[in-house]
Amino acid sequence: MQIAKTKGKIVIIGSGFVGSTTAFAISMSGIASEIILVDANKEKAMGEALDINHGLSFISQMIITDGDYSDIKEADVIIITAGSGRKPGESRFDLAKKNADIFKDMAAKIMAHYTGGVILVVSNPVDVLTYLMQKLTGLPEGKVIGTGTVLDSSRFRYLLSEHCKIDVRNVHGYIIGEHGDSEVPVWSATNIAGKLLDQYCSVCKNRCGNVERERIAKDVKDSGAKIIKYKGATYYAIALSINRIVEAILKSQNSILTVSSVINGAYGISDVALSLPSVINSSGIEKIYDIVLREEELNALHDSAKKIKETIDKIM
Ligand code: NAD
Repeated sequence: MQIAKTKGKIVIIGSGFVGSTTAFAISMSGIASEIILVDANKEKAMGEALDINHGLSFISQMIITDGDYSDIKEADVIIITAGSGRKPGESRFDLAKKNADIFKDMAAKIMAHYTGGVILVVSNPVDVLTYLMQKLTGLPEGKVIGTGTVLDSSRFRYLLSEHCKIDVRNVHGYIIGEHGDSEVPVWSATNIAGKLLDQYCSVCKNRCGNVERERIAKDVKDSGAKIIKYKGATYYAIALSINRIVEAILKSQNSILTVSSVINGAYGISDVALSLPSVINSSGIEKIYDIVLREEELNALHDSAKKIKETIDKIM
């Protein structure tokens, strides 16, 4: 397989916890040549760029600056982390409405300077905002993607690796559907170094019945809220998830990641954004990678699509 040479101009809109940690993660991984931080609070973007610049002598050569929407010209990836997280007492719908208003304003500013590249939505609710951004920009579905359940899939693999006492890199599994309460663990395809979990569990001495599976799936769902309770925000693992997606795009790796995108037909689902295993390269999503789902997984995916659609219908 031909590996494309890294070029890598990245614009990050929103330099809060997630945006700045993402800039740091990308600078550490050395996959990009240029990062521009844009924020409504310009001094915040300036400060974050300076802070990372002051460590460049210890890592790779690159350009990190603050900037504005005109920097979107010739960007390979435009990452959107702008908008707020959920405040105590605020409903998911209130957050969706607030961030949707920010996105409506932002889409026009992005398109005024857009020359290509992939738009990567991180702000929550990520599926609803990915849908909104794709519709507002009119770009092809594969060019506007959301981080979706890439983070949830990583949490799933981590929790399974802890339970099974196996290196997380040898544990493979996907969470699909909504990044949120209705997400769906694909137990039928989960495997450890190629051995399906059902077979693995029959020889492993550890407990691994439905009770354990339900606990792990619930822990994945509750992870974000738990971290927010402990420290106020989540940013390290999402920054690493973003770094992984950006790497797949810049190096055109044809990596399969559970990003969110507007689905039109896969699994009988249409006109909603949600996460499915997707082949990612420099064009964005090359194609949805069709995996066989059990009937109960397919039904849960349809329920998840319905739930996301309800919020989309309320804010559009
Ligand atoms: P934050 O409040 O620390 O940062 C948000 C930043 O956006 C602030 O610096 C703010 O000034 C900026 N901003 C607001 N409106 C803007 C606009 N119109 N243009 C430019 N900048 C603007 O929040 P955070 O913790 O960094 O989280 C950011 C978003 O990421 C939230 O919506 C959060 O829920 C989401 N998030 C998503 C995931 C995921 O898995 N998808 C994980 C963690 C956080």
